[in-house]
Amino acid sequence: MNAPSLKPIVDEPVPQPGRWGAEELARLAAMVTQSSLFYWKGPQTTALLEEFRRLYPLKYAFPCSSGTASLHIALAALRLRPGDEVIVSPITDMGSVIGILYQQGVPVFADLDPRTYNLDPADVSRRITAKTRAIMAVHLAGNPCDLAALSALARRHKVALIEDCAQAWGAKHRGTPVGLIGDFGCYSFNDFKHIACGDGGIVATNHETYGPALTKWGDKSYDRVAGTRAPEELAPNYRISEPQSAVAAAQLGKLKEIVSRRNHAGGLLTSLLADVPALLLPTVADGDTHSYWFYLLRLDLPRLSVSRADFVAALNAEGVAAGAGYIPTTVYQYPVFRNHNFFGGAWPARDHGLTTMDYRQVSCPVAEAIIEDCIVLRLNEAMSDDYIGKVARAMRVVAQRFSK
Ligand SMILES: *Cc1c(COP(=O)(O)O)cnc(C)c1O
Repeated sequence: MNAPSLKPIVDEPVPQPGRWGAEELARLAAMVTQSSLFYWKGPQTTALLEEFRRLYPLKYAFPCSSGTASLHIALAALRLRPGDEVIVSPITDMGSVIGILYQQGVPVFADLDPRTYNLDPADVSRRITAKTRAIMAVHLAGNPCDLAALSALARRHKVALIEDCAQAWGAKHRGTPVGLIGDFGCYSFNDFKHIACGDGGIVATNHETYGPALTKWGDKSYDRVAGTRAPEELAPNYRISEPQSAVAAAQLGKLKEIVSRRNHAGGLLTSLLADVPALLLPTVADGDTHSYWFYLLRLDLPRLSVSRADFVAALNAEGVAAGAGYIPTTVYQYPVFRNHNFFGGAWPARDHGLTTMDYRQVSCPVAEAIIEDCIVLRLNEAMSDDYIGKVARAMRVVAQRFSK
């Protein structure tokens, strides 16, 4: 009865939002009349800061070249010292950990909640040591972390809370935009994010200790405010430039609309599939707003008679834009970590006895299980209720076909 349909249930291509338009063009047109494309006090970067602060009212903000840069700047501003530990999620982009390692810090991976795929505060608590300097909360797929619990932990242990909001433009924890609760909010404008300018990022804080020097940490330790050049610390060039700022400023003007559509589509999908036993749907905490950069769910494989790969192949045959898995392994299982191959084969922090970390021994069983059974569904702001309805029907039909 339940054989593959002759005609795919999702009988139309994935709707594509028009990502750039009149707003971006107007800013770019104004930009080409400028005499300089340098970011400092540039009109486009100034507009970007205004748009950002309208949504994220943080006192100090530095637009920079990427999300990776924004996180690295936050860690440098914290003045992370060699051997200091930063607790982070094992399912994330490399950008979350690159800055930790470049500051000679030690990423410490904590396990995840099985249904939000975000840091499990209880496991974070177990991994806090005298060397812990920060917790990095990655809002995976756009689902806010348990910031109440993580910020309480951070306060209790006097460590910083860094929010990696790269996937979570527009997401809110109990009504507060993500990035405002931790000590730093870090954001990405890379092309794949739902608010994008090709490449770019922003790091922001209200902290009076870390805030004033953010610009120096992303701009060679030059003091643009005072107009002096007497670098006191080693800092990279992570500057944004006016073309990127022009596009990013226009994009932020659309954030509310984009995220409300994504949030609606994701919520609709969850409600339509809630009674399908083989599908383990993402849970969103009461009062939180998920921005659904993508829709991440898990398969209850013991209930199914096929592998994840075959399940996803069947979904694809029904026209569903689904992928088997997100990243191929946890971050600590990547070759760079397994081989501790950070600096030309050396790892100064360990070679000098500042850490005994061995990434081959790390174990986060929940994260490893998620890697094995998760499915990524494409989701975007152009998807109508009718389209989401077809996706849900196809998911239900495939799940029934293969349920034991
Ligand atoms: C994309 C991403 C980053 C890095 O952003 P880039 O702009 O690509 O450097 C960091 N963390 C997470 C969770 C991301 O998804």
